[in-house]
Amino acid sequence: MAHKTVYLALGSNLGDRRFNLRRACEALEDARVHIVKRSSIYETEPRDVTAQPWFLNMALACETPYFPLQLLAISQRIERDLGRIRGASSVPRGPRTLDIDILLFQNIVMDTPRLTIPHPRMLDRRFVLEPLSEIAPHLRHPQTKDLLAKYLSRVAGQKLRRIEL
Ligand code: AMP
Repeated sequence: MAHKTVYLALGSNLGDRRFNLRRACEALEDARVHIVKRSSIYETEPRDVTAQPWFLNMALACETPYFPLQLLAISQRIERDLGRIRGASSVPRGPRTLDIDILLFQNIVMDTPRLTIPHPRMLDRRFVLEPLSEIAPHLRHPQTKDLLAKYLSRVAGQKLRRIEL
């Protein structure tokens, strides 16, 4: 089956955040989501629910044989395996051991109840745009056709620091 290029965003703000990101990368590789490029890790200010610990975030460029909904199922299984609690007891957009967002999938545009691609909030979030631009500076948004750099300048006020490894 032909491999597709996808961009993922990983985030963690509970427990050993760096370990969680590393385990997520290993779990993706084990599930045939091959990591071609990984960004630095960034420590970022929480959005939406602000009274929660800062996140570690990173972006990945991957190749995979899967289709979008299959990739979503794999991502959610990995989130669950790493201990994320979903449902009534968890705060929407609150703390999480691991969050995996599908940012871009080839040049596909889709909007279904379970999955929206490109990720609908990616252009408003510096914690997504900064690591993504690091690994794919020439990437354009499939709907607007604009370079991501254009959007980065609009979110410059959101606090973030790149972590030197
Ligand atoms: P969150 O709790 O913020 O990770 O949101 C998870 C929900 O968003 C899941 O129920 C997914 O079905 C849905 N979703 C919609 N579009 C996407 C996307 N591009 N990547 C990941 N989850 C998505």
